[in-house]
Amino acid sequence: MTGTMPHHLNLVDGEWVDGERRANHNPARPGEVVSEYALADRDTARAAIEAARRAQPGWARQPVAARMEILDRIGATLLRRTEELAVLLAREEGKLLAEARGEIVRAGQTFRYYAHQLLQPQGEVYSSTRPNVHAEVRRRPLGVVGIITPWNYPLAIPAWKVAPALAHGNTVVLKPAELVTASAGELARIVAEAGTPPGVFNLVMGAGRVVGEELLTSTAVDGVSFTGGTGTGAHVARQCIAHGNKRFQLEMGGKNPLVVLDDADLEVAVRCALDGSFFSTGQRCTASSRLIVQANIHDRFVAALATAVSALRVGDPLDPRSDLGPVVSPEQLAQNLDYVRIGRDEGATVVAGGEHHPDEGQFMRPTLFTDARNTMRLAREEIFGPVSCVIRVNDLDEAIDVAGDTDFGLSAGIVTTSLSAAERFKRDARAGIVTVNLPTAGTELHLPFGGTGASNHGPREQGGYARDFYSVPVTCYTGW
Ligand code: NAD
Repeated sequence: MTGTMPHHLNLVDGEWVDGERRANHNPARPGEVVSEYALADRDTARAAIEAARRAQPGWARQPVAARMEILDRIGATLLRRTEELAVLLAREEGKLLAEARGEIVRAGQTFRYYAHQLLQPQGEVYSSTRPNVHAEVRRRPLGVVGIITPWNYPLAIPAWKVAPALAHGNTVVLKPAELVTASAGELARIVAEAGTPPGVFNLVMGAGRVVGEELLTSTAVDGVSFTGGTGTGAHVARQCIAHGNKRFQLEMGGKNPLVVLDDADLEVAVRCALDGSFFSTGQRCTASSRLIVQANIHDRFVAALATAVSALRVGDPLDPRSDLGPVVSPEQLAQNLDYVRIGRDEGATVVAGGEHHPDEGQFMRPTLFTDARNTMRLAREEIFGPVSCVIRVNDLDEAIDVAGDTDFGLSAGIVTTSLSAAERFKRDARAGIVTVNLPTAGTELHLPFGGTGASNHGPREQGGYARDFYSVPVTCYTGW
């Protein structure tokens, strides 16, 4: 390791803990090391869990004003350091600088939002059916929460889990994805420097099957909040049930449909499809990966979208002329290209992109397929890259059927000028998030977020709904 290389350590009980060093590379310039991180082992993870256990009662008893102040300070620091953190995030994960800025701002606002959520009512009072009895429902913290996060929103997802967890009096052990440990390490510094008592927030970096597994199997952990792939999520669920029947919350993959009806404004439809399918290099769980298009508008839509997709500039995320950054890792790039081959073999037609971008770096040209059918693997499996496919349908009924014919159910959109079609879609689309004349991706921090089917298990995240996971209702009867 070089002495000047930026590095990030694990945070356990208020102490920075070193370990074997691993390097993370810039996906736009694979030769460039962004930072190094200290790999945690199972003992470090265990120590973090024990520290969180010890710190939890004290943290929960802190006056609300003290917890608010700390959360507010974390939010303010994220907002103040937006530019610097956005450059780091763009270099580490590969999203455009503008998108990275938006993510840091979102993370900062999320901490501030949960600071103020603490002033909302935290329980309910009921009439008792018995004389001289007072009945109320109070909330107590869940306890020690293990938080396991993916690489595609290195700050926003940890923020929308850590902030409500701390707000509701829980202590946290965060296990971020290995690819984005610099962002997580910076978050840990900010949380520690905001005055969080030792053990309240702990960071352990390393492989899921090592440190992640410790969070799942430890009976000292009361709940696990996980975001990531559906296969990993199923494993998380099994382990949480097997080891202490602990509470778990899973947000997983998507294969999100965007329906375009004949009466759609073509410009709006192309804008929604372009953004939803390809922005952030398609690496969003809410990305539109199935474009379900009615017959009369089909050819015009495909022609306009293919032109727009071909015009997207793929390049370095720090270059303001780039529309699309790199794919996050060589493995993800290989998987994306594999799906392009699978789609071709299944009989779908590439009308834009379809290949590796010639520049050095993990770049891929955004790829649009037509002639897809909903039974193809191309239309059923989450690719998680800049690849989308057009499926032709005859009418709204068929569009709703095809949109809902998926194992997933995170987000679903429709582009239409018909109020009744929009209302029917909102009623019938099988998804946790429905958009009308907007991209399927793009959510707001004060509204609930989550899916149905294989996309979700457990209570919703974000907004006031986060309380349902991070606190436990206690029904109290008081005789007087
Ligand atoms: P992943 O499932 O590979 O990893 C997610 C996290 O789980 C990582 O921190 C990883 O180290 C950890 N992990 C892996 N094996 C583990 C184990 N045995 N025990 C404990 N932890 C383990 O997902 P990824 O590749 O990082 O992220 C991409 C996936 O995340 C996509 O499927 C995407 O749709 C999904 N995602 C979903 C949402 C949502 O809110 N629904 C948001 C973003 C990403």
